[in-house]
Amino acid sequence: MLDIVPVPAFADNYLWLVHEADSGETAVVDPGDPAPILAELDRRGWKLTQIWNTHWHPDHVGGNVAVKEATGARISGPAAERIPGRDVELGEGDNVRLGGHVGRVIEVPGHTLGHIALLFENDRVAFVGDTLFAMGCGRLFEGTPEQMYASLGRLMALPDDTRLYCAHEYTLANARYAAYAEPDNDAVANRLAAVEAMRAAGQITVPTTVAEERATNPFVLADDVREFARRRTEKDSFRS
Ligand SMILES: [Zn+2]
Repeated sequence: MLDIVPVPAFADNYLWLVHEADSGETAVVDPGDPAPILAELDRRGWKLTQIWNTHWHPDHVGGNVAVKEATGARISGPAAERIPGRDVELGEGDNVRLGGHVGRVIEVPGHTLGHIALLFENDRVAFVGDTLFAMGCGRLFEGTPEQMYASLGRLMALPDDTRLYCAHEYTLANARYAAYAEPDNDAVANRLAAVEAMRAAGQITVPTTVAEERATNPFVLADDVREFARRRTEKDSFRS
């Protein structure tokens, strides 16, 4: 079993620690800030062996070199992007391994052109970086609407109970936009109320699941790529 722990960083990032007890291996996904990662490893007595990056943005790779120097961990990241300290280039169909657990790499361009996600299919776990957020998706900094719409489609083709670990706590703002974009959707209204209560109680709202996103994510619910693109542009300037 994988033990997956959020490490909050910056204003709203989650850096994910992934621990496998049998092998004693630990990985971190997107260590944007080294200090909280090293502190959490120390607190838990875990030895970091791997660093996995989903894309090149500084809040995802900013701690790569410092964490590598402190732990000796090996860095695997997307082949198509500039990743500080990278040891292993990852592309479509490659694998990462933690103990006996295998994560398959899929390319999910849109937020950036080389963005990857890691699918641990036997564990029903996926690390999706800034491609999909709970009730939202990443901004299109580099890719096209067509690319992002297809990338979300690949994630939504995973089994319903797959847990999706995204990199930011954006759920409340996303839920407010979702309620605006999908005014007649009861599942969206119910989830907005639940997310408001969770945030008021100081709880984190991720991971999400494929089933929840199929029911409530306005970008997934867009009927076609044209509607997806319209919603993405609208959300960029939406103030709730
Ligand atoms: Zn990003």
